[in-house]
Amino acid sequence: MNMVDFQQVSKRFGQTVVLDKVDLAIKQGEVVVLIGPSGSGKSTLLRCINALETIDGGDLRVDGLSVRGGKSTVREIRQEAGMVFQQFNLFPQMTALENVAFGPRQVRGTPNAEALKQATELLRKVGLAERKNHYPSELSGGQQQRVAIARALAVKPKLMLFDEPTSALDPELRQEVLRVMQSLAEEGMTMIVVTHEIAFARKVGTRLIFMEHGHIAVDGPPAELIDNPKNPRLREFLQHVE
Ligand code: ADP
Ligand code: MG
Repeated sequence: MNMVDFQQVSKRFGQTVVLDKVDLAIKQGEVVVLIGPSGSGKSTLLRCINALETIDGGDLRVDGLSVRGGKSTVREIRQEAGMVFQQFNLFPQMTALENVAFGPRQVRGTPNAEALKQATELLRKVGLAERKNHYPSELSGGQQQRVAIARALAVKPKLMLFDEPTSALDPELRQEVLRVMQSLAEEGMTMIVVTHEIAFARKVGTRLIFMEHGHIAVDGPPAELIDNPKNPRLREFLQHVE
């Protein structure tokens, strides 16, 4: 079974067609890097996967569960698909540890002591064991984004969605976030990553997708597509991001 399965998925905002009958199947363990011009529908595609946006046509299944299922199915999908945004969206009044422990307590009903233990372990995993009692305002952007990744992982998702996770960061802070994402990929996490980090796409991605005007224009192996782009618009796009 596919982890993510778009079948003729359409999405409109008013008259604007944002996803145009998209077919896309992603298997467990794939690291899909999604690139494309601004406005091509990358964020919308991600947001449809965890039902932050509803779809207007077709069907979209996540680990077999349809986003058109009822409320409880949608809740299940949201637990299976962790999401990391460009703006870290941490709870400002909570420490790093509390941010990470919050989801398991709320969503999975994990007892407090157990949630804190797991959160400590996850913060260690993202290299922030020493910062667990800091508030977001006391952390750098790169550290905040690593907390956000730990927070998403805390709910034990089967799939991680990243929407330009390093775009709000200064260049010197991007690598620490990309390294955490790389180790997650190496552990076998299924990931869909919207990013302009072409070196990351080439090194870590198992599949590269180039979107244009709400459809998938190119889909294939990252190294091949990046080193020798045959699609002229992909070639031009890569010249501008690199
Ligand atoms: P990308 O992430 O590739 O830049 P988006 O998925 O954010 O693209 O947007 C695709 C198109 O949908 C754009 O034309 C954008 O203006 C439009 N759009 C996105 N979200 C909304 C919304 N909530 N309401 C209206 N239009 C939207
Ligand atoms: Mg976007």
